[in-house]
Amino acid sequence: MTDATVHPLYETYNRAALRFERGEGIWLITDKGERYLDFAAGIAVNALGHNHPHLVTALKDQADKLWHVSNIYEVPGQEKLAKRLTENTFADRVFFTNSGAEALECAIKTARRYHFVNGQPERYRIITFDGAFHGRTLATIAATGQEKYLEGFGPKVDGFDQVPFGDEEALKAAVTNETAGILLEPVQGEGGLRPFTDEMLRAIRQLCDDNGILLIMDEVQSGVGRTGRMFAHEWAGITPDIMAIAKGIGGGFPLGACLATAEASKGMTAGTHGTTYGGNPLAMAVGNAVLDVMLDDEFLPHVQKIALILKQGFASLIDRFPNIVSEVRGRGLLIGLKCVVPNTMLLQAVRDEHMLAVTAGDNVLRLLPPLVTTEEEAREALKRLETAVERLSVANPVKTA
Ligand SMILES: *Cc1c(COP(=O)(O)O)cnc(C)c1O
Repeated sequence: MTDATVHPLYETYNRAALRFERGEGIWLITDKGERYLDFAAGIAVNALGHNHPHLVTALKDQADKLWHVSNIYEVPGQEKLAKRLTENTFADRVFFTNSGAEALECAIKTARRYHFVNGQPERYRIITFDGAFHGRTLATIAATGQEKYLEGFGPKVDGFDQVPFGDEEALKAAVTNETAGILLEPVQGEGGLRPFTDEMLRAIRQLCDDNGILLIMDEVQSGVGRTGRMFAHEWAGITPDIMAIAKGIGGGFPLGACLATAEASKGMTAGTHGTTYGGNPLAMAVGNAVLDVMLDDEFLPHVQKIALILKQGFASLIDRFPNIVSEVRGRGLLIGLKCVVPNTMLLQAVRDEHMLAVTAGDNVLRLLPPLVTTEEEAREALKRLETAVERLSVANPVKTA
């Protein structure tokens, strides 16, 4: 080490001075024993909360047997999880990864290979939407398209064209005979919880069909029960050709997946793609345990019920404190409040009430409760949020003319 005064971590995060030691359901407990109500959930990762007994048992049992084998062998846990994922989605095939960005990389490669094996290698371009977030690898920052993620990292990876969010005419105009696919988040997460309308999603599906291009969904944040359906695109009654998932499926264990139809994935033959850790037995044990819980008939109706309670509570806050918050955003438990004051100010006020949330683009405060949040816990969260908003309101009274 050359300079002992330098912090040993990259300074890529402005970290809050909170050190969590333990988790229990929707609660996180600091090294000082303070309890925080966790409506950030590791940014939509801890779908079943912290320390869920079924997940803990699954991981411990697997840890006693086998941690890692190469993907040059058959991995029964992968076959089991892939079978369950395909039985419950549009997809026929799954490729497991360790993260969302890797799932997106696989999705992009799958789309390009599809056209390549169809004899149209010139069709490699992917259309994305502004406000998108697809990850931090070189290709996914190009797909994301925002200058703040691209600056200083050399030439932007070629092959991504961005159109304004929700602009159907611009989208149609952007489709060329080099277009391989359209990539979108059905509800933009980082971008400020902006959902595509169901009509727009159906129109995009039609546009893809009319032009022989692939529809790629990034459901890394919106998927795995988060919006009250297993996947957010289901609300629109359409299916993609390829889908990237991660976050919730691992419940806190690093796990992602790229799902595709047999047709869309036909170019991904032996040797074309690979991963050392993706689909590792520990990850498969946890992923299967997450589905054990989520595939229960009562699970998604519960998510929808909690979402409704929060939405009503948020609406009431907007009525009473229009000087602080102005709009409910999102779908299901991928929900947020558009702020009138800076969202960082509301985030801090909420933290002062020992509750965790996250910011999102467009000055939104994002709330990502664990999907197992009970009615009582949802009301406790609303109470804390209200106290925070009320306190800000006293400090920022409505300006009258
Ligand atoms: C988090 C996220 C990603 C990236 O996932 P990582 O696991 O951080 O690579 C991609 N897309 C969306 C929509 C996300 O929310």
